Amino acid sequence: MPFLIRFKALLTVFISFINNLPRKHFFALIILFVCLLVISFLPSQSEQNKNIKRQLTLPIQTLSEGEYSKAEPIDTEREQYGKSSIDFTGTREIQLIIKEGDSLSNLFQKEGLSAAVLHELQEADKSHLRLGNLVPGQEIKLLIDADNKLLALKMKIDFANTLSFVLKDSSYISLLETEKGEWRNSYYQGSVTGSFYINAKQVGLSAGQIQQISSALQEKFDFNRQLRAGDTFHVLVSKQYINGQYTYDSEVLAVLIKTNRQTYSAFLSEDGRYYDADGQGLGKAYRRLPVDGRPRISSGFNPRRLHPVTKRVRPHNGTDFAVGTGTKVYTIGDGIVQRAGYHPAAGNYIVIKHGRKYTTRYLHLSKIYVRKGQRIKMGRLIAKSGNTGRSTGPHLHYEFHIYNKPVNAMRVNLPLSKEISKKHKKAFNKRRDSFLKEMAEI
Ligand SMILES: [Zn+2]
Repeated sequence: MPFLIRFKALLTVFISFINNLPRKHFFALIILFVCLLVISFLPSQSEQNKNIKRQLTLPIQTLSEGEYSKAEPIDTEREQYGKSSIDFTGTREIQLIIKEGDSLSNLFQKEGLSAAVLHELQEADKSHLRLGNLVPGQEIKLLIDADNKLLALKMKIDFANTLSFVLKDSSYISLLETEKGEWRNSYYQGSVTGSFYINAKQVGLSAGQIQQISSALQEKFDFNRQLRAGDTFHVLVSKQYINGQYTYDSEVLAVLIKTNRQTYSAFLSEDGRYYDADGQGLGKAYRRLPVDGRPRISSGFNPRRLHPVTKRVRPHNGTDFAVGTGTKVYTIGDGIVQRAGYHPAAGNYIVIKHGRKYTTRYLHLSKIYVRKGQRIKMGRLIAKSGNTGRSTGPHLHYEFHIYNKPVNAMRVNLPLSKEISKKHKKAFNKRRDSFLKEMAEI
């Protein structure tokens, strides 16, 4: 066995070499050996590369027409996918600009996406109600994989809102991103020479703000009969700006009408209602139920409800009242109709904003009696209940949101009395004084 003999000889030479080495060199050799051992256990460069599977390849200008353009990467979706192991090979991203007469269903058809996918998205949109009406000029981005499966959809709703849907474990999860922007106060004042409406317009108040002012003081002051030439008005308005641009979202915070006899005032509380300087409510209090009587609740608020068929968690964000089609539906508080329309899943629906804090929603209606932008008082008949959209039978689905998060409408702490509660009095006084200070009244 020449190999073994040769190896033995080599080993002997090596050992004698080591034995003859000075002590310092011997230790250096040991350290070198340990280092080599560690390096040999590190993953090689090629193995590291193996983990980078995702690669985005865009088709070579297959998209014709001016409405299509190569979209920017859909970053949030990319991040979402980064956590899972989806192969991005063959994925295409497209950007659509909505034109007059476009609908999501015909855009989906054009892209070869199935109606079932759209159905899924509409279900996921039930908690936002934003997919109903497309507006010309609106941008939609789609991320579609090699098998023509929709991985993500992202659309700009308005100045402040962007809605995304991302495919995860064979269903779509939705995300509404709202830019809070910046709320800045503007102060307006003027004196009455003729009609309040014209004088208020002259100083720069909008029609909506003027309506809000007269609605706030409606029960205390008659703008047609009680105003005299020379009376003055002082108004503090909060306006929303996003990237320096006014979004046309505004709130009248405080109003003072000074006549030669007395001053009438209205201050907006955080609860969306107006109170006078002493904390007396200027309008009616909220009501608990949007319908008369005490109808049976067929399905309560349940953020962890399992879908009866798919067994997936599909939150029930509202309270279902078992009422027949045609039952009268009232708004539970003063407010402004933020949206009203039709949604494939929610049917005819109304969203009412009660100040910045509260919002209420009414779904599956048979008839709608209000329109977007309309200011309404508590108890106003707004609709009749029904069975429209994807509904399992006639009922009213009612939602209550606090700062855009759904809460249990049957349990929420509502300002149910006319006067500001003792608990909130101190905060109200502080707010009132800060408004007055801004209006240079203190
Ligand atoms: Zn419901």
